[in-house]
Amino acid sequence: MTFSPADRPEIGDFADRLLCWYRRRGRQLPWRCGHDPYRIWISEIMLQQTGVGTVIPYYQRFLARFPDLASLASASIDEVIALWAGLGYYSRARNLHAAAQILVADHGGRFPEELPELTRLPGIGRSTAGAIRAIAFGKRAPILDGNVRRILSRIFALEAPLKTAKSQKQLWAWAEQLTPNDNVDDYSQAIMDLGATVCTPRNPDCAACPVSPCCVAFRLGKTAELPLSVVKKTTPTVQQVALVLNKGGRFLLQKRPYQGFLGGLWEFPSASLKEAEESGGAAQGLLDQLGLDLRGQLRRHGKIRHAYSHFRLIAEVFCGEVFPRGDRIGEKDREEQWFSRDAVASLPLHGAHRKIMEKLEKEGKGATFQK
Ligand code: SF4
Repeated sequence: MTFSPADRPEIGDFADRLLCWYRRRGRQLPWRCGHDPYRIWISEIMLQQTGVGTVIPYYQRFLARFPDLASLASASIDEVIALWAGLGYYSRARNLHAAAQILVADHGGRFPEELPELTRLPGIGRSTAGAIRAIAFGKRAPILDGNVRRILSRIFALEAPLKTAKSQKQLWAWAEQLTPNDNVDDYSQAIMDLGATVCTPRNPDCAACPVSPCCVAFRLGKTAELPLSVVKKTTPTVQQVALVLNKGGRFLLQKRPYQGFLGGLWEFPSASLKEAEESGGAAQGLLDQLGLDLRGQLRRHGKIRHAYSHFRLIAEVFCGEVFPRGDRIGEKDREEQWFSRDAVASLPLHGAHRKIMEKLEKEGKGATFQK
């Protein structure tokens, strides 16, 4: 933190200014109709890593199927993951399900109000716990999500990268300092709205900002520089082969193990390429491993590209037809099934393999992926 005493922000009326603005400009969002901790919890988890526009339809579908804790706790994990498919960061869905079961089994189906108990639940960190406590129960608790971090780094002109332990500690202290005693539910939502609509990552709209008189970055003309960006590591690329195997109009899909990346989602049989490995050989090797008897040869059907949070995936697609009576003789190390084309379309596929399905449908690869 590098501001001089002369630049010290006038934070005394920060909360009042923000609350006044929120009453006029706050967003109408589906989870803002009441103080049901279950609804607030679902929205907070969905909003981690995902924007409001994407979240709304997922939230509505999720609430229509699981209107309360009891219905979520008694559902199967597959059903929860199916409703989450496409939203990404699937550990969130697994944690929601696990936390619902704990709340029903150990808390009589009620949310605790205290931070230590909330943060003991799977998937609930300090900021999410603060949001639930503040918004659902109206009890004072600071929050520090990505939006709030950015706002505070500008208000106080933090000249250090946000993610260091020292910055985190400082940001939590500022969050604590600014959180009011009253109207903490509105305050928590107001500061999230300010970050989403005014104090945006690029080109913050300082002219429309209710807290600009409190903002040191604004006063110093540093709003474009802050928060300090860290040099991004280059994103690795993973090369893969994927097999679309058709047996009399049904397609072989496998489920990824629940514990692990994209856990519980379905995909076409696939294998990562080793360094300098040729894709045709890798596809044949995968087919041999599956132990399926092909009618003819595997055919190449181009590549799809998909970006995940920490790597890029390039999958080369190979298609082939399996003799109608043919079945696996290879060892099965995960759940798998032959699905009709319509059933594949309704499965929770992970993003890259949904693209494979869409590519084949679009290109009308007749024998390959038609009904
Ligand atoms: S004045 Fe600008 S930089 Fe400062 S909080 Fe408001 S929008 Fe963000």
